[in-house]
Amino acid sequence: MKALQHVAVGAEPEVREIPTPEPGPGEVLLRVTAAGVCHSDDFVMNNPPENFGIELPLTLGHEGAGEVVAVGAGVQGIDTGTNVVVYGPWGCGNCWFCAQGLENYCSRAAELRILPPGLGAPGAIAEYLIVDSPRHLVPIGDLDPVATVPLTDAGLTPYHAIKRSLGKLRPGSWTVVIGSGGLGHVAIQLLRHLTSTRVIALDVNDEKLEFARSVGAHEAVLSDANAAGNVRKITGPAGASLVLDFVGFQPTIDTAMAVAGVDSDVTIVGIGDGKSGARIGFGVSPYEATATAPYWGARAELIELIDLAHDGVLDIAVERFSLDEAPEAYRRLAAGTLRGRAVIVP
Ligand code: NAD
Ligand code: ZN
Ligand code: ZN
Repeated sequence: MKALQHVAVGAEPEVREIPTPEPGPGEVLLRVTAAGVCHSDDFVMNNPPENFGIELPLTLGHEGAGEVVAVGAGVQGIDTGTNVVVYGPWGCGNCWFCAQGLENYCSRAAELRILPPGLGAPGAIAEYLIVDSPRHLVPIGDLDPVATVPLTDAGLTPYHAIKRSLGKLRPGSWTVVIGSGGLGHVAIQLLRHLTSTRVIALDVNDEKLEFARSVGAHEAVLSDANAAGNVRKITGPAGASLVLDFVGFQPTIDTAMAVAGVDSDVTIVGIGDGKSGARIGFGVSPYEATATAPYWGARAELIELIDLAHDGVLDIAVERFSLDEAPEAYRRLAAGTLRGRAVIVP
């Protein structure tokens, strides 16, 4: 089968011919119908693989959708022909975090060498994908896999980040969303659908600010050295109750902290350079502000998001690419010229 593989640090991914996998005991084989391209792949491809415990070549793609075509010995409860999306942050299924569906925080994943598809295990940007357990599949019924697959990360990660702050998003509050790309444009829609907070989006050019407005941002502000002051002009002295930073480099984290209000949450989702961080301290940060860096989301939250998708309240912006065009999708991602999510349709 064809697969898009990360073959060397700093190099472009390559479409390669590899053996079609067969499901082992407990596993499920999907014929991939759609696979999303995430900015985290760019980070992984430009850093030493040993930093993530991964080996090259690696088939990319941690957002996957497919049709169940075969199951391994012992698999019950899922029929061939079922259309599914894949819950990606695989865990052991048994530890305290996994017992709550928070497999993204599995306490035994490192010890058991369990890695997500596309981030260690073979990923979804291929014709077929092995999923380690039917527990990691969510049926999507008649939803379009191309428009739905971004929910597995570009939706799930902001949904998890927003849910933990819902109690702070009272009417009259402000939420600042930094970076209106794959994750950010879903975050804006989730904020609008789930809360009555008012949303200020930050991004780097007029086209992206217009995109943020088109998906529901009340205000859009250029993310430059004056951004914090310009946001404060909108929020007034109260500042933001929640800041979601989908970039995560030091300048955006500094902006995030500068617009945060008393008792706010500053939630840093973007990986940035993997070294930047928020400064918290008396006189340095707003009183009782909390800074956090979450990772992905819970199994139950993906099920909730698929239910939201059935309700038709989300409008996921997708740019489609074939498997042969997948390297171009990664070029566009790195150049920052995508509108929403790039999705590979094998
Ligand atoms: P993306 O490239 O689709 O979107 C990034 C957006 O940020 C773009 O609109 C871009 O124009 C904008 N941007 C870039 N620099 C900016 C700046 N200085 N100020 C304001 N906006 C700026 O990326 P994505 O796939 O949505 O991922 C966003 C980030 O989240 C990445 O760092 C990714 O690695 C990370 N991520 C983290 C998790 C997690 O679990 N924590 C999960 C998925 C992705
Ligand atoms: Zn991702
Ligand atoms: Zn676990």
